[in-house]
Amino acid sequence: HAPGHFRALLEMSRFHGDKEFLVYDDERITYEEHFRRAAALADRLVEKYGVAKGDRVAIAMRNYPEWVISFSAALAAGAIAVPLNAWWTRQELAYGVSDSGAKVVIADGERASRLTAAGVPLIVTRGEVPAGARALTEVMGEVRADVTLPAVELAPEDPATIFYTSGTTGRPKGALGSHRNLGQSPMTVAYGLLRAVAMAGKDIGAAAGVRRVSLLTVPLFHVTGCFSALTTTMFTGGGLVLMYKWDPGRAMELIEREKVTTLIGVPTNAWQLMSHPDFAKRDLSSLTTLGYGGAPAPPKLLERINRNMPERAASNGYGMTETTALAIGNGGPDYQARPDSIGLPSAVVDVRVVGPLGEEVPAGEVGELCVRGPNVILGYWNQPQATAETFVNGWLHTGDLARVDDEGFVYIVDRAKDMVIRGGENVYCAEVESALFEHPAVDDAAVIGVPHDELGEEVGAVLRLKPGTSPAPEEIRAFLAERIATFKIPDHYWFRDDELPRNPGGKILKTRLRREVLGA
Ligand code: ATP
Ligand code: MG
Repeated sequence: HAPGHFRALLEMSRFHGDKEFLVYDDERITYEEHFRRAAALADRLVEKYGVAKGDRVAIAMRNYPEWVISFSAALAAGAIAVPLNAWWTRQELAYGVSDSGAKVVIADGERASRLTAAGVPLIVTRGEVPAGARALTEVMGEVRADVTLPAVELAPEDPATIFYTSGTTGRPKGALGSHRNLGQSPMTVAYGLLRAVAMAGKDIGAAAGVRRVSLLTVPLFHVTGCFSALTTTMFTGGGLVLMYKWDPGRAMELIEREKVTTLIGVPTNAWQLMSHPDFAKRDLSSLTTLGYGGAPAPPKLLERINRNMPERAASNGYGMTETTALAIGNGGPDYQARPDSIGLPSAVVDVRVVGPLGEEVPAGEVGELCVRGPNVILGYWNQPQATAETFVNGWLHTGDLARVDDEGFVYIVDRAKDMVIRGGENVYCAEVESALFEHPAVDDAAVIGVPHDELGEEVGAVLRLKPGTSPAPEEIRAFLAERIATFKIPDHYWFRDDELPRNPGGKILKTRLRREVLGA
């Protein structure tokens, strides 16, 4: 198979044979076992379920090894893999199934119980098998050692995946990715890895001999998990440690036990690890690399990592569902020098920043970030209008406001939809949040617009404080006054003890937060 196809990646990964690929609790799956089980399931999908090229196979599961096997099997069969959000309710799952037109769904017991009315054949991987569904073991039967991939012709532009966007700004959109998008995904990450090797003055040979074991802290049904972690692990022959759900205490146990070298997730993961009461007691010496992205990473995070976990290579990656994960990344000395930047475009990506009429703005000015490259998806599934608006003349309009400095470093200013306009002045929530994170008592922060008759909107801050602290709003205001302009300082403050509502991508659910604090 031509390089760049997932099938080529799958076949290549088989050369890693008896090496451990997936670890989940006490279960361990080697590369060879993974290949055999994926190939066998691909065969059953074709033979028993009539899955043909271009049919959709949905996956609704927690981060179990079967997620990976099902994903590999669907793609190997030539189908379009449709990872559904495991956090979704019955209605949301039904939407994912009908929107994608899935021919079959592979689910764990918990998800299967929410899918019984979806009117689609169900294969259940673990847990209870509801009436009418079939257990994976029964579907699979015997897995032979000489199993091969089913025959199917695939071109690079053929669709391979539908990932649903996080739904931060509205209803999740199905992002239709091609085999080319998927095939190049490990390349962008590998480029960053090799750059880090080079920056340490080593070559690839000198860097070999260290097994890369990654702990995946985020769901596989979003692109950070699937591409920055999974396909990259397959490409590099490392190990991937899966978790049922993110839990900093459990994460530290696993880092110790599995000698994890790399943490892959969202910025809050690293933050919560360092805030955990057991942090100082654990042996995290195997951990050399912290990679995070998918949500804004306040500069304070890097400062904390440098202090609490010195000598670790930290990196911040910017990407979207529509860019098959990483598009722009910052790491090594670059990141240390510019902790507020998302870094330089990846090797395969072009970027530009445009004004409201689509014209390129001068260097240093804020506009909408646009991205072009082989990682940009084909378009949105079933949404011709959103596709036409977002993908214009080969450029993906990200909906993020950014500026680029004269050396090419990109700075995300805010999401276009997450800006507060206070009396005509633009207040970028992300900037105010970063300033709030500097305050020693602040453990988490979110800035929202608060409706105001005269100004249109005022600025509100919802804060989670560190235990035992209780700064007055006046004190926080004075603290901010030294850091940001007066018109950006929040007018309203809400303090809370519980965690701020976040989606699995680590992003704060501002619509929900606004409803919670404003009742609107
Ligand atoms: P939806 O498109 O459904 O509203 P979403 O945009 O949150 O949801 P994703 O594709 O998961 O869905 O997230 C992409 C967005 O995440 C980007 O557009 C950007 O706003 C944000 N993002 C990703 N990485 C970073 C980063 N390193 N720093 C700041 N923001 C980031
Ligand atoms: Mg988006």
